[in-house]
Amino acid sequence: MTREYLKKATLTSTSHASDVHETVQGILADIEAGGDKVAMDYAAKFDRYEGNIILTPEEIAAATALVPDKLKRDIEFAHANVRRFAEAQRETLRDIEIEVVPGLIAGQKSIPVHAAGCYVPGGRYSHIASAIMTVTTAKVAGCQHIVACSPPRPGVGVAPAIIYAAHVCGADVIMAMGGVQGVAAMTFGLFGLPKANILVGPGNQFVAEAKRILFGRVGIDMIAGPTDSLVLADATADAMVVATDLVGQAEHGYNSPVWLVTDHRPLAEEVMRLVPDLIADLPEVNRDNAAAAWRDYAEVILCADREEMAATSDDYAPEHLTVQAEDLDWWLGRLTCYGSLFLGEETTVAFGDKASGTNHVLPTSGAASYTGGLSVHKYMKIVTWQRATREGAKPVAEATARISRLEGMEGHARTADIRLRKYFPDETFD
Ligand code: NAD
Repeated sequence: MTREYLKKATLTSTSHASDVHETVQGILADIEAGGDKVAMDYAAKFDRYEGNIILTPEEIAAATALVPDKLKRDIEFAHANVRRFAEAQRETLRDIEIEVVPGLIAGQKSIPVHAAGCYVPGGRYSHIASAIMTVTTAKVAGCQHIVACSPPRPGVGVAPAIIYAAHVCGADVIMAMGGVQGVAAMTFGLFGLPKANILVGPGNQFVAEAKRILFGRVGIDMIAGPTDSLVLADATADAMVVATDLVGQAEHGYNSPVWLVTDHRPLAEEVMRLVPDLIADLPEVNRDNAAAAWRDYAEVILCADREEMAATSDDYAPEHLTVQAEDLDWWLGRLTCYGSLFLGEETTVAFGDKASGTNHVLPTSGAASYTGGLSVHKYMKIVTWQRATREGAKPVAEATARISRLEGMEGHARTADIRLRKYFPDETFD
């Protein structure tokens, strides 16, 4: 490796600070002991909200009336695309049934979990798209009960567009509660909800820690840390487009890493020249996030050739991976570690984040080395079954009895013996 760091991060994201763990553990214990009332106390404390928790049909209708028609059409467009992609994913989960040995049939089925709890973040930005991504996939998977929860804005409640998106995508219940208390309410079955079987969706460090602690009692999609993005660009890339894409992802948060990996020094230098001005031109909050992310977490890495670029990218296992380079098919075949891949200048991470149909709930902090993002599959239990004729059972029972005895599991062996004696009384077995 000849990687040269033209810009190196001074900080790395840590999503598991011990003080956050203690805070979240304490809140979960309080809410489990105290129920609805304590969850509402935390909503009042953290979000200064004391309104209705489970939205009524009238509240949903009132929110819908506040969403501009054009935005409604955009939400419906994004929903249709995410649903279409999720339906295609669902098709890949076909049930199977095979004859393993003559007379013994085994099969596999995919069964959706009953109750899904979808977390829709709403602290810093109104993540309308997260409602679309989580609720739509749960609906297509076939979950019977879908709750969408999102933090209320102080005094006013959940953003109307989030309510509209969750409703259109198929949420059975919309809950004005966020953070740890929202996650706890879905998991413990507060406010009359069924207990969630799975919790999905992105969130801040408190939400992520709550999911980590509760995992086991409830399924989770993944533990998502701060969002991260990597751009692979060669000499054919447009420096202004690359710089704009990096800044666009850096605005997620002060600790959202963005990385540029290239084999073309002039491109790297031009991007580094352009980025500060693009950041300075953002609105204030976005500017502060992007400036801090660029200063502390961003990296620009110069590689010898495209093979080294690809190997570097795989090492980082980014959540979002963009390729702005020649020969896109080569990259699609070569790259192995990413949450979602954006090939060519004509598409970009924000398309996938908002409206193109692929899911935006994706593995962060290197987790793309072992998992993909949210999909219909995450809501499905892949279960197996079997049945046999007496003839089909015979060789399996004989092998089972011998293996069990060798393992010292006499009880197991006898469950095989009893069948052999019953079905084949005239034969002897050793
Ligand atoms: P959020 O909804 O995740 O968190 C807001 C909640 O945090 C509040 O309701 C409050 O209850 C709780 N909270 C705040 N301070 C607290 C404290 N001191 N103690 C306990 N609880 C506290 O919204 P957010 O903060 O804006 O974070 C959204 C996150 O989601 C960002 O990190 C963003 O990058 C991420 N995100 C990721 C993806 C993805 O696909 N990876 C997509 C969208 C958003």
